[in-house]
Amino acid sequence: MRPFSFHRPATPDEAIALFEAIGEGARFVAGGTTLFDLMKLDIERPRHLIDVGAIRGLDGIDADGDTLRIGALATMAAVAAHPAVLRDFPVLSESLARAASPQLRNMASVGGNLLQRTRCPYFRNGVGGAYPCNKREPGSGCAAVEGLDRGQAVLGTSAACNAVSPGDWPVALVAMDALVELRGPLGQRLLPVEEFYRLPGDTPHEEFTLRPGEMIAAVVVPKVAAGRASTYHKIRDRESFSFALASAAVALDMEGGRVRRARIALGGVATKPWRAREAERLLAGMNLDVETALDAGRAAFADARPGRHNAFKPELGARVVADALLIAVERSRA
Ligand SMILES: Cc1cc2nc3c(=O)[nH]c(=O)nc-3n(C[C@H](O)[C@H](O)[C@H](O)COP(=O)(O)OP(=O)(O)OC[C@H]3O[C@@H](n4cnc5c(N)ncnc54)[C@H](O)[C@@H]3O)c2cc1C
Repeated sequence: MRPFSFHRPATPDEAIALFEAIGEGARFVAGGTTLFDLMKLDIERPRHLIDVGAIRGLDGIDADGDTLRIGALATMAAVAAHPAVLRDFPVLSESLARAASPQLRNMASVGGNLLQRTRCPYFRNGVGGAYPCNKREPGSGCAAVEGLDRGQAVLGTSAACNAVSPGDWPVALVAMDALVELRGPLGQRLLPVEEFYRLPGDTPHEEFTLRPGEMIAAVVVPKVAAGRASTYHKIRDRESFSFALASAAVALDMEGGRVRRARIALGGVATKPWRAREAERLLAGMNLDVETALDAGRAAFADARPGRHNAFKPELGARVVADALLIAVERSRA
């Protein structure tokens, strides 16, 4: 690992000022569970680490009022197990509980989770010229597009990149129309989580809508009744400690046995947490049974463009959406 200096600010303002003063080469770190990995692989090369994990007061979970507000430094484990999250937003709790391992969830922050980078093998294993990767070395090319693409994205891809957005938690947040609260040198702003992620296009290395020196302070989730009739369904190669091959976050607002409004987001299949609006529209006013659930699942993948080894993903993903819808409708009756 390359040498770096380490700083422990006491407040968010101090952290932001430190970042501004250092400039080039500065990077925030929280749990360190993914940043240190990438530094050891020589993919990330920060020269100065600003440890926001030591800042007090950024790990609160506030469930009073019209929103659920979760501090960026709350651990994945703490949020997953919080009684209000379990009761009002099973989709959020499940997205965290089904990610990584217990040790990682105890260490990792929900803010750091939003900024984790792709697990594309060509991104992680090609340092030193073994494989080109436009995310790692902008303009170098993409080995995955013509390579082994079983785990790659089928939605939102471009000729320059088909890497999957890896996180589970952001998918659940997108389904719930959550906002990310950012603090930086220019002040504070709220951004829909969906807009926080960028499509790869010609610039796959520009992954997040984050200005220099901005830190994530919190995520804010509007409280809606559909939160209780929600689920996060995740299919992976192993039943634990594995990233999604296909996942779906679903929440249902039901009226008299029919869907008033469905919220559906997809993970493991797209280059960013993917809102499936066509599928949502198709369900409005419908009676939700196995057939309509599968129709909605297939509508979610109407624009899918699989590669050579991942032609199974649209059908797998459609079935994951359908199963998630049936779990959520069951919960709406409870
Ligand atoms: C073996 C393994 C398996 C995993 N499996 C899964 C999985 O199945 N599903 C899943 O979703 N995730 C999975 N993960 C990823 C894991 O969830 C992330 O590593 C973790 O959430 C990152 O949080 P952290 O606090 O450790 O982030 P860090 O490593 O500290 O930071 C990650 C990034 O976020 C930035 N950052 C951190 N906090 C802030 C902040 N407040 N403001 C601005 N920037 C910030 C850092 O600069 C860095 O770029 C896995 C990780 C490992 C190692």
